[in-house]
Amino acid sequence: MAGLILPSRRTLLLGIGAVAVTAPAIARGLAAPAWTGNPFSLGVAAGAPAADGFVLWTRLAPEPLADDAGMSGPSRAIAYEIASDDNMHHIVQRGSALAESQWGYSVHKTIKGLKPGRPYWYRFTSGPASSAIGRAQTLPPPGADRLSFAYFSCSHYEYGYFAGYRHAAEENPDFGIFLGDYIYEYADTSSKRVKVRTHSGGKECVTLPEYRARYTQYRLDPNLQYLHQMVPSLVTWDDHEVQNDYADKWGEDFQDPAAFLERRAAAYRTFYEFMPVKPVFSRPLGPNMRLYDRYDFGDLMRLDIIDGRQYRSREACYGDPKKNEGHGGGGHVETPSACPELMQADRSMIGLVQEKWLFDGLATSKARWNVIANDVLMARLRQGKKGDEWGYWTDDWDGYPASRDRLMRHMRDSKVSNPVAITGDIHSYWANDLKADFDDEKAPAIGSELVGTSVTSYGPPYDVFKGFLPDNPHVKFFDSRPRGYVSVALTREAMTAKFQVTSDITDANATKSTLATFVVQDGKPGPVAA
Ligand code: FE
Ligand code: CA
Repeated sequence: MAGLILPSRRTLLLGIGAVAVTAPAIARGLAAPAWTGNPFSLGVAAGAPAADGFVLWTRLAPEPLADDAGMSGPSRAIAYEIASDDNMHHIVQRGSALAESQWGYSVHKTIKGLKPGRPYWYRFTSGPASSAIGRAQTLPPPGADRLSFAYFSCSHYEYGYFAGYRHAAEENPDFGIFLGDYIYEYADTSSKRVKVRTHSGGKECVTLPEYRARYTQYRLDPNLQYLHQMVPSLVTWDDHEVQNDYADKWGEDFQDPAAFLERRAAAYRTFYEFMPVKPVFSRPLGPNMRLYDRYDFGDLMRLDIIDGRQYRSREACYGDPKKNEGHGGGGHVETPSACPELMQADRSMIGLVQEKWLFDGLATSKARWNVIANDVLMARLRQGKKGDEWGYWTDDWDGYPASRDRLMRHMRDSKVSNPVAITGDIHSYWANDLKADFDDEKAPAIGSELVGTSVTSYGPPYDVFKGFLPDNPHVKFFDSRPRGYVSVALTREAMTAKFQVTSDITDANATKSTLATFVVQDGKPGPVAA
């Protein structure tokens, strides 16, 4: 096995493990603790962009693998600097930020007063310690005519190295979007799959210390850390940030909802502590955390980031282990007529409040492109026929058909400009037409879905899924064999998505290639192979 390489000389010098002495922090008289290790061992991140700023993140962890990460006592003020150049020569803003003891000494610093549509560079300092220099970016002003972003899902630490994250960072996109399964809560102790490394604790996370240890482990990965450092990110989650296939207060194992909500509170709290999300807005209150949000990239793109887990209805026909192969979460409904719950109109993937929020946002958008950052497969996928009925998987939008119908019809009836769902979860690439009526093969597409494969998680069986495609003519492309991510270039005329593949997840130095390129033309719904 090849050893891990550090992404660049700059990271080596300024980032992981380095404690550089910086005069400005000392000169400003901020507390200069004698750190026992690099307090910025978990790196830096930027996110939640605005036209005049963003949120800067770090988390003090001088001893990241210790139970308390080497931190105790009251909240700490640290210094930050923002520059207009990557060498930090032209400082445009400096100040102090609070690492809050009650949030695991994480920093979520809201920066304002900057110029729109351009990159900035930043670093934190505390006493003699200096963080890596990170890149952040403000949202573009109206009239902007190009944007680039990459999106990711499903990075299982045990199954592979995160070379895909490094390749994405080296493409230097304006933003990165995480679509869920950023961590996995369980440890694979039973399968025969190749594991290149082992999850923290060797078991499934349930408690706050366990989730914190898991996120710490991921954030110590040099490639993920480098991505966060170099590419500002927007985030939603899927199930594995908490537990496989959970839905609102329902875990996958028929747990008592009160106990599951305690676990969800620990998991959401940890997510907040480790992600560059908005303070106040996203700060969790017990088991509740507001994550769904929207960002306007000038009038070029509106990004609606949805939360497909916290508010969803219980999975259909949940609770019958015979129907669900012993699981309480997602299952395969072979004959929907035997599961009337599946079709109930009041069931929702994102909850009726979020549906209204999403529909209003789509209907009022002035943007040329309306992209929905979505965790699970949105297009219908018939999975085999029994009698005269097709079976469906119930953990994705196929488990919430009434909710999907409302969204599809809303896209059509409110004439949303260029709706495109970008999706994760299913560990495979897909290019799909979205339809107001999936039964009507002749009906035109009303939107597009571009699904990215997993960074490292294993894909579904290729031959089995390939066999479903004749029953799903709105699917224009499918491949579950490669691992990777998606890179998007957006102009007013077209959205071009490259399906980027890493050569080997067991090789830390895996190379990159492009499997396929799909284009959505302005005003012409549906992805077309380039
Ligand atoms: Fe996944
Ligand atoms: Ca998932």
